[in-house]
Amino acid sequence: MLHLQNYINGALVPPTSGQYLDNFNPALGEVYSLIPDSDERDVAAAQAAAQAAFPAWSTMPKEKRSALLLKLSGLIQKNLDRLALAESVDQGKPVWLAKSVDIPRAVSNFHFYATGILHDSTEAHAMEETAINYTLRTPVGVAGCISPWNLPLYLFTWKIAPALASGCTVVAKPSEITPMTAYLLSELAIEAGLPAGVLNIVHGLGPKVGTAIVSHPEIPAISFTGGTKTGETISSIAAPMFKKLSLELGGKNPTIVFADADFEKSVHTAVRAAFSNQGEICLCGSRIFVERSIYEKFRDAFVDGVKKLQVGDPMLDESWIGAIVSKQHYDKVLSYIELAKQEGGRVLCGGTALHPEGRCKNGWFIAPTVIEGLSYDCRTNQEEIFGPVVTLQPFDTEEEVLQYANSTRYGLACSLWTSNLSRTHRMAAKIHSGIVWVNCWLLRDLRTPFGGMKGSGVGREGGFEALRFFTEEKNVCIRL
Ligand code: NAD
Repeated sequence: MLHLQNYINGALVPPTSGQYLDNFNPALGEVYSLIPDSDERDVAAAQAAAQAAFPAWSTMPKEKRSALLLKLSGLIQKNLDRLALAESVDQGKPVWLAKSVDIPRAVSNFHFYATGILHDSTEAHAMEETAINYTLRTPVGVAGCISPWNLPLYLFTWKIAPALASGCTVVAKPSEITPMTAYLLSELAIEAGLPAGVLNIVHGLGPKVGTAIVSHPEIPAISFTGGTKTGETISSIAAPMFKKLSLELGGKNPTIVFADADFEKSVHTAVRAAFSNQGEICLCGSRIFVERSIYEKFRDAFVDGVKKLQVGDPMLDESWIGAIVSKQHYDKVLSYIELAKQEGGRVLCGGTALHPEGRCKNGWFIAPTVIEGLSYDCRTNQEEIFGPVVTLQPFDTEEEVLQYANSTRYGLACSLWTSNLSRTHRMAAKIHSGIVWVNCWLLRDLRTPFGGMKGSGVGREGGFEALRFFTEEKNVCIRL
C-alpha cells in the first residue's frame, strides 16, 4: 500500500514516529493509502528547514521567485488529470468537478500570486517640503498554513501561493482526511526546482501537527481554514503569542429569493449553490428563504431540480454528487437529518443514505435532502451541517428575511436574488456576510478580498490582501 511521506527540506521523508494513519477512499469505504502520523518533532524539522531557507528565498529577486512559482503552476496544469483523479479518490467528489474547478483553481492560485508580486507596490506620502513617508513591506518569516478537506488542493494552494510569493517560507499541513494532492504537490515542487526548505509539508492529525505549528514560537504567521471550533482553539494559542492570524471558518449561508427575481435562474443556481461538492463548500447556500408569493412554485421547482441530481460513483461523468468525505462526517450529516425531523421538519426529498450498485456499494453516500417547516432559529438552521442538507422557508418582508439571514453566529456568504436595484443595495449593506452575491453564486475575481464576519473568521485572504498578510509593514518618515 502507498505510504505518503512528509516533504521536509526538499526531500520526501517518513514521519519521525514511524507510524502511519489510514487514508480512506470514501466512495468505496476502504483504506487505500497510509499517511504519516507526524508530531512536533517533524514540525520542528520542517520549521528549521524553512528558517534556514528564509534568507535566500526572501531576498531572491522577485522575477526569479515568480518564475519558480509559475513553473509549479505549469506542472499542476500539466498533471491536471492525474491530480483530479487523486482528489476525487481522496475526497469523494466527482472527477469532472475536480477537473473543472479544484485543480484549475490551484493552477490559478500560483499563477495569480506569481504574477501579482511583479506588480505590487507600496505607498509614499509626501508632506510638501517637510518630510516624506513611505511604507516598506518585508516577508514575515516562516508561515504556517493549515487547510481543510473539502477543496483540498484548491485551499492548500490558496494559502501557500501568496505566502511563498511574498517571500515567506512555509510549513504547511493539509487535512489528514484528504492528504493525497498535497503529497503530489510536494513531488511537483521538487520537479519545479523549488529550493530545499522553502516549502515543507507535514502530514498528520490536527491536535498533534496543527497544534505544533500554531504554538511554534518561530512561526509568526498562521493562515488557517477550517471549522469555527478549531479556529477558537487556534486563536487561544496564537493570539497571546501575538502572531499574525488569518482565520477562514465555517458558514451557514442564506440564499434569499424575492418574487421579482429571474425565476428559472434563481432555482437553477440555488440548487447548484446548495449541493455542489456534496454541499461540502463553506460557501454553499444551506438556508433558502423565498418570498411567500412564490414560495410554493419555487419549492416545487427546486425539489424537481434536486431530484434530477444523480448521486453515485465519482468516476462517472453522470454523477453530480459523489461520496461524503468520511464515515464520521457521513454519520454527522445523517444525525442532522434526524434532528431536523425531531424539530418538526418535513423531508421533501432525500433524507436517507444511499447505497449505489456496484463497486461503490459500501461507500458513504447521502441523497440530497430538502427540508421545510422549520423555524429559522432551530438547531438545524443555526448549526453548520456541511453536507447535502438544506432547508426552505417563506418570508414576507425585507426586515423579516434580514432577521432570519443574520440570526446565526456565522457570516460568510449570501446569495441574493432580486431585480430591484434599490433593494439590492439596501440588503447588501445589511446582510452579515463577507461576500454578497447578487443574482449569482461562487463568482469572484481573484483580486477581491475574501473572508467572513462574526464566527466565520477574521482577516481577509485573496488578492493583494493575502500578500499583505504574509508581510510585516513598516512606515518610514524622513525629514527633508
Ligand atoms: P477542521 O477545523 O476540523 O480542520 C481543518 C484543519 O485544521 C485540518 O488540517 C485539521 O487537521 C487541522 N486541525 C484540527 N484541529 C486542530 C488544532 N487543534 N490545531 C491546529 N490545527 C487543527 O475543519 P474540516 O472539518 O477539515 O473542514 C470543514 C470546515 O472548514 C467547515 O467548518 C467549513 O465551513 C470550513 N471551511 C471554511 C472555508 C472558508 O473559506 N471560510 C473554506 C473551506 C472550509
